[in-house]
Amino acid sequence: MTNSYSKDRENVISGITTFDTIVQQHIGNINANSSMNAFLLLNDNAIQSSKETDKRACSLSSIDGINIAIKDNISTKGIRTTCASKMLQDFIPVYDATVISRLKQKGAIILGKANMDEFAMGSSGETSYFGATDHPLFSGYVPGGSSSGSAAAVAAGFCHAALGSDTGGSVRQPAAFCGVYGFKPSYGRISRYGLIAFASSLDQIGIFARDIDTVSLVFDSISGEDEYDSTCSRLSPSDSFSNVDNSIDYHSLTIAILPENELLGLSQDVRKVYDTTIQSLKKAGCTFKELSIPASSAWIPTYYILATAEASSNLARYDGVRYGARVNNDISQDMTTASRSDGFGKEVQRRIMLGTYVLSSGYYEAYYKKAQKARRVIVNGYKSIFDQADLMLLPTTPTAPFKRGEKSSNPLEMYLSDYFTVSANIAGIPAISFPAGYNDQGLPIGLQLQATFNQDEKLLHLTKQIASLIV
Ligand code: GLN
Repeated sequence: MTNSYSKDRENVISGITTFDTIVQQHIGNINANSSMNAFLLLNDNAIQSSKETDKRACSLSSIDGINIAIKDNISTKGIRTTCASKMLQDFIPVYDATVISRLKQKGAIILGKANMDEFAMGSSGETSYFGATDHPLFSGYVPGGSSSGSAAAVAAGFCHAALGSDTGGSVRQPAAFCGVYGFKPSYGRISRYGLIAFASSLDQIGIFARDIDTVSLVFDSISGEDEYDSTCSRLSPSDSFSNVDNSIDYHSLTIAILPENELLGLSQDVRKVYDTTIQSLKKAGCTFKELSIPASSAWIPTYYILATAEASSNLARYDGVRYGARVNNDISQDMTTASRSDGFGKEVQRRIMLGTYVLSSGYYEAYYKKAQKARRVIVNGYKSIFDQADLMLLPTTPTAPFKRGEKSSNPLEMYLSDYFTVSANIAGIPAISFPAGYNDQGLPIGLQLQATFNQDEKLLHLTKQIASLIV
């Protein structure tokens, strides 16, 4: 096992190892590090699938035999899918999410279900009903969230790749904290069918891997139109791995960066990595242009108003009757209240209450409607940025990974850690976090690249070139 999908695959083809051995090694590794709490469940069929893949080792398809972890809010037929919530602790879906059926069809091996913040609400992996995920390299620190287990599993070498979901940064932020790649595609490029909804207009399934080629391979395998998701793009599946457009390269790039006053909250260590990266790219010939994404003071409020409003509606189905664990069998309002009070954790309840409030008739105009207007301003702002620049470079997070418990009693401070990630979801554009350096303690720091809507392939190609210049 080499920790790289392409190398492991070559070794299988040349007879040095087998997929069966690789899966067993990954599982051994996960079990030996169970205190990290990266997985909520391991797939009993993984070893059987690997044996079948070994039988066709001479004619492998693009992602055949890849060992992949799945965030536990993506439905897997016959395999428990909990959203890391007490509410769904016994939920076994009767169908696969589109991404899962596409992965299976192409020979991917689903290794298990990854831990996460409850219902994908969080930035630290601490709100899981099944216990927090530990940082894969620095025990006692948070791995980021909400796709905490997916990021930790990839960084720890427990799998080749992982799927997560990104509503306001939940793929990019934990990727940055764990030192791996985390890609959130344009809204609609990957079907959301079977992704348990948090905030439907912001949710996107995203991909984690330790190298960009693996991100591309997985993206190409799961993207594309889906009749089960009407918000899914009509564009054909991406072809980012084999169809590299060599006419675009970093020498002649114009990269947008935020003006100084929008970077004030940046910690010194992130700032240092950010500045060094810009210097290296300038030396390589890139041109930088200061352009601001409008309404910076409104990014976080807009996100938290829209996300909580949509969440309050999406989570209404968990009433102990249609979905979710039932606490009290008396069919009355008490049963619903009791089930929801018992099944949802504190953060989820906080979001539902906030969402219900901003949608209530007296406050709708003041909050929800205003947030929709701010969303339009941000979308238009990005359009103007990408008329003037090829890409935008931003920090992924304002700080390096923090200690467990450091922000969990202060929701506002936790929410501010999403400052640089939420605008991409608000605008629906593609964004990726790439490993860009470390602080003095050795904690990973990631930076983020964004591109205009539906230029996902271009973003992946350029990220590969840019990352090779700074490593
Ligand atoms: N940290 C953000 C939140 O708690 C983002 C979550 C996400 O992207 N799923 O809402």
